[in-house]
Amino acid sequence: MTERGVKCRKYFIIPELTRSRIASERHIDNTPTEEALANLQSLAENVLDPAREAYRQPVYVSSGYRCPSLNKAVGGAVTSQHTRGEAADLCTGDGRQGNLRLAAVIAANRVYDQLILEDTGRNDFAPAWVHVSCRRDTTLNRCQILRKIAGERHYSVVTCENLQGCLN
Ligand SMILES: [Zn+2]
Repeated sequence: MTERGVKCRKYFIIPELTRSRIASERHIDNTPTEEALANLQSLAENVLDPAREAYRQPVYVSSGYRCPSLNKAVGGAVTSQHTRGEAADLCTGDGRQGNLRLAAVIAANRVYDQLILEDTGRNDFAPAWVHVSCRRDTTLNRCQILRKIAGERHYSVVTCENLQGCLN
């Protein structure tokens, strides 16, 4: 969030948050519902655009909105926030360390529901990609940071201090 409620530059557009290679290959219509579209706009405005501005380098969306059939096709959890347009999977062009810095930038902005460091190493927090979600009613956001070590199924809680600390 910028001072005095001035919105930051717009970087992410809706097609970036709905396109999917698997959807096109399998002829799945991944057009968002009105509700999901409003959620995607809020996600872009409150989380993705500020993160991109603060990170200062390109940020890529590998998966944003997933209609139920696309979500099923990629093996997503039935309750996945991707199906409501509330979540995006992100990576940078700077490898795992870049992804880690991006996660720290999102955490520092403090507007997010869940921030997940996906497939990290066993002894570090640097993720293969970053999952972030945000509720349109931002007062409902849990501000929870989780980490999943590659090859494991278990998610563990990471504090914001821990995340910031591993950048030093
Ligand atoms: Zn995700």
